[in-house]
Amino acid sequence: MLTDRGHLTATLRSAQEPSPAQMERFSAFLNQKYQREVPLKWERDDSLKNGFRLQAGSDVYDWTRHGRLRQFQDYLRLLRPGQEDIVPLMREALDQWEPQAAPEEIGEVLTVDSEIATVGGLEHAQYGEILVFAGGVKGMVQDLRQGDLSCVLFGDSEEITAGSMVRRTLKTAAMRVGESFLGRVVDALGEPVDGKGPVEVETHRPIEAPAPGILDRQPVNTPMETGLLAIDSMFPIGRGQRELIIGDRQTGKTAVALDTILNQKGKNVVCIYVAIGQKTSSIAQMVENLSRRGAMDYTTVVSAPAGASAALQYIAPYAGCALAEYFMYQGRDVLIVYDDLSKHAIAYRALSLLLERSPGREAYPGDVFYLHSRLLERAAHLSDELGGGSITALPIVETQAGDVSAYIPTNIISITDGQIFLESDLFFSGQRPAVNVGLSVSRVGGDAQTKAMKAAAGAIRLELAQYREMEVFTQFSSDLDDATKRQLAFGQGLTRLLRQPQYSPFSHHQQVIILTAAMARVMQNISLEQIELFRSGLLGYIEEQASDLCRRIDQSCQLSPDDREEIVSLSRKFLDEFPKFLAARQSEKRGG
Ligand code: ATP
Ligand code: MG
Repeated sequence: MLTDRGHLTATLRSAQEPSPAQMERFSAFLNQKYQREVPLKWERDDSLKNGFRLQAGSDVYDWTRHGRLRQFQDYLRLLRPGQEDIVPLMREALDQWEPQAAPEEIGEVLTVDSEIATVGGLEHAQYGEILVFAGGVKGMVQDLRQGDLSCVLFGDSEEITAGSMVRRTLKTAAMRVGESFLGRVVDALGEPVDGKGPVEVETHRPIEAPAPGILDRQPVNTPMETGLLAIDSMFPIGRGQRELIIGDRQTGKTAVALDTILNQKGKNVVCIYVAIGQKTSSIAQMVENLSRRGAMDYTTVVSAPAGASAALQYIAPYAGCALAEYFMYQGRDVLIVYDDLSKHAIAYRALSLLLERSPGREAYPGDVFYLHSRLLERAAHLSDELGGGSITALPIVETQAGDVSAYIPTNIISITDGQIFLESDLFFSGQRPAVNVGLSVSRVGGDAQTKAMKAAAGAIRLELAQYREMEVFTQFSSDLDDATKRQLAFGQGLTRLLRQPQYSPFSHHQQVIILTAAMARVMQNISLEQIELFRSGLLGYIEEQASDLCRRIDQSCQLSPDDREEIVSLSRKFLDEFPKFLAARQSEKRGG
């Protein structure tokens, strides 16, 4: 604007013309400040009734009444009223406050649309810095060029027009964090959107932060149980792991994440659910579900619905992660769900195209891999020196017609430590959760599975793989030998056993009991329709007959040979009583 390299001019604006002596004083101030001769001219500006505004290059010294009021306002925002009364605090603040002698950098809007503004005159603005536009709307610097920059806008205001003022804040985007975020629904800037009043902010954390280094970490060794048999038995997830949940639309992806959050009740795990690009009504339903089941107490929902600006959708997962890090660095265990990263990539693509970055594969910009890798790398299990906290990340990705080789799915598959692949066909055939056992994998969680689960689950994955193979081979043959028939029936039974209704995660000992009984082939002769009934009956029976055993498994996380024997023999006993159990239920039903 006013400067080119080395050459600096200044303009003084006020309503009344200053005297030559005053002009001299300003010149002396400028020459001293910038260590060179700065030509100064005066311009009349009738809007500046009280005071003046001095601009040298992009530095602005705002000593108008309006400018001072705004500075005082910023100063007041730094005050943190605690228990004490706000009035004396403000009185004291007023006494101590002095107008800033430091310059502010002010730029002007060159072009603007609803998502992007280009700004001229801010020479020193940095990548990721927050700028404040007219009407208080904030934006984040994205592309820096010689002479101007592009900024994504977090809101919309009619006051932002070509020529309107833009202020630097010298701060990069930060998320408000604090203990009282638990139980709340906030937007991507940390502002509450649940109508329950302000959230107490303890501090701010930058939304983009470097991931912990290798020496700051320790191996994943503690389970993060989902409570879903189909996952915990075969694809166990550990604290600090990144496990992708992937599948077509309406295959129960969100349901898996939701059940995992519900299953953390009473386990001292903080949960963060980041909703990106979803309908506001689905987010509201999610929150309602969580609070009805008592899970909001330990959960924060970060909401960037489809109606929010692309910029807010773009920063939402990073903001959620910043909140997660706040808890992790206190030594807590955190579970964070990004639902979903396909929509996140789409929001970023929209922004990038508006920023005129060159599109690459599937029109995504070249750095879309980095977009997700720098986010997911922040999941970690910290070393004991750093408090031993962890962030477990469950990113969700939506595929089109099961195509995992599309750009975003392949990227995220390669960044994560495994994936739970959910399949439409299974889902519609009633196999829910619709986990595809062949395509799902967990690369690190095995070390985190408890000894009891390992012992109980045994070779269940192998059995199911064999069953699927045999199923294909025997499809067209009519006479099968008995051994094959038995093996097929066993596989069918196991598959059926892995069905689980929503909102009913199994506890650790329940999973161990079910799997031990199943692998001992106790349920071999039960019809498929009755397997779920048998399962719930068996759990009730054992919990009643051997509550010590259940407690022992939960506490020690071990399954001794004796305990295993006990489970099997109790299961056999229940098998004998099962017809009676069925009859009782039926008469109950008729009676009720
Ligand atoms: P979208 O692609 O729309 O985000 P999604 O893959 O997240 O969908 P969900 O919303 O979790 O799928 O589930 C779709 C529907 O299936 C919901 O109505 C949900 O209640 C139901 N559902 C999910 N899991 C189960 C389950 N285990 N048992 C019964 N119903 C289920
Ligand atoms: Mg969903």
